[in-house]
Amino acid sequence: MSRLPKPPGVRYRGDLDAISLSSWCNFLVTYGCWHVLTGLAKPDPLREQAILSEFWARYRTWKPHHQIFRVIDAEGIDVSRLAPFVLHGDEGRGYKKQGFLVCSFHSYLGQGTELANSSRKKRPYKAMRLNYVGSSWSHRFVTATLPKMFKDEAAFQEILTFIKNDALDLLYNGVSDSDGNKYRIAVLQCCGDWQFLVKAGNLARSFSSVEKRPRRGICHYCHAGQLHIPFEDFSTNAAWVRTQFARDDQPFVTRPTLLDLPHEEGYAARFFTFDLWHCWHLGLGKAFLGSVLALMSERMPGGNIDLRFSNLSDKFLSWAEEAKITPYIGGLSKETIQWPDKKSYPNGHWNKGHTTTTLMKFVVWYLQREDLRDDPLLSKSLEAAVVMDEALHTLYSSDLWLDKNVAREVGQKGLRHLALYQQMAATSFHAKTALYVFMPKSHVCNHIFLELAECQTEYILNPLAHSVQVDEDMVGRCSRVSRRVSPLQVVKRVMQRCLRATFAHHVKCGYLNAL
Ligand SMILES: [Zn+2]
Repeated sequence: MSRLPKPPGVRYRGDLDAISLSSWCNFLVTYGCWHVLTGLAKPDPLREQAILSEFWARYRTWKPHHQIFRVIDAEGIDVSRLAPFVLHGDEGRGYKKQGFLVCSFHSYLGQGTELANSSRKKRPYKAMRLNYVGSSWSHRFVTATLPKMFKDEAAFQEILTFIKNDALDLLYNGVSDSDGNKYRIAVLQCCGDWQFLVKAGNLARSFSSVEKRPRRGICHYCHAGQLHIPFEDFSTNAAWVRTQFARDDQPFVTRPTLLDLPHEEGYAARFFTFDLWHCWHLGLGKAFLGSVLALMSERMPGGNIDLRFSNLSDKFLSWAEEAKITPYIGGLSKETIQWPDKKSYPNGHWNKGHTTTTLMKFVVWYLQREDLRDDPLLSKSLEAAVVMDEALHTLYSSDLWLDKNVAREVGQKGLRHLALYQQMAATSFHAKTALYVFMPKSHVCNHIFLELAECQTEYILNPLAHSVQVDEDMVGRCSRVSRRVSPLQVVKRVMQRCLRATFAHHVKCGYLNAL
């Protein structure tokens, strides 16, 4: 454990302990667990090296201007022993429901997603799978935590400086094994929910400026949301498209500390990467389903809204039972979509991404059996649901890299969903009905699918590589621990419990022998 200096004025009385990435790397190399970072269940040095070499070859083709290649070339770094990593940060609920920040690292490479693994036909030698399955304790590495307190901003900046220095030290100096081979880690991106990106990236433009005047813009990638540049425009020739990553206009209030890490030349904003899970499953997906379920309820028998929803709910629950799908919610009501009256825009009121996935499947199943000729909104909704469901299915059944053609197809389907959404929003607006609300997160979906649709390289990283559901699971676990230990030394105690849990899971996975 490393101890961070405590800046003056920070209310937290305990020690600011952290586990450096260098310490994690040292542990993984010394105890023969490096293979975990390459997605292999057992050590196989030659295969690990082949996988990492292939990762970097593809990454260089995809992002030749990434500064990491300057470092690799100048320092003569052996990429076959260089693991690609992501930094994640987010707040869970700690002691007395106060925020509890957890920062952790993970490798891009892991043991796949459940869907990709179940549909896998080939097992290539240089397999590069997403880092999803298995206990998060075995492939997420907690580095620093912080309870929300007075003047915690200073302590947070201290944590970011620690993370940056630690990551640079490991990249340049590495960790040696007993044969003198050097192992290193490169932190390539920072991800998390939008709030964390704003904090870590000192972002001047984000969702929180949506209502502000003058219009500052809502997106650190582009000028969407500024005057005459509507973020609600989902068309491929929207005004914001031409304002992406403008060189003369950086979106930072002050230069973020983390940008001292190698990043994409000319695309510094993209170091703080958006994620599909927040923007679809917990964003646009909820807005879309809110409107579709509202329209579906109108077709149900019943003299009032509650009765109609009760009938829709029965249909949903019996579908889930028959299809053997966990419904994740107890039923459907007007509260599920926050729809007290027709003047309010419906929007999903659930907080589990799984609920969005399940409801999408239900909506497709139900609408495919209905005669929608008299209902242009629902027939467009059906097409929109089908294309998005297909796009997501492809992503979840894929591995870390997407072939150009697959990426373009997924991108086109995502853009088709957005185009239909825009049409439905316009139709509803002109008919003076409050449906298909626009939110900043929908714009983020637009960036993600546009990048896929415009893929020019042979391979592109699956956007699920930056999706944070597994990391949020980890944040939830750490926050639960933080509620059970003494608040006086909560940082140290959470770190100790993390180490204990990691050890137990490494033993369980067969990576380590029990003591
Ligand atoms: Zn944008």
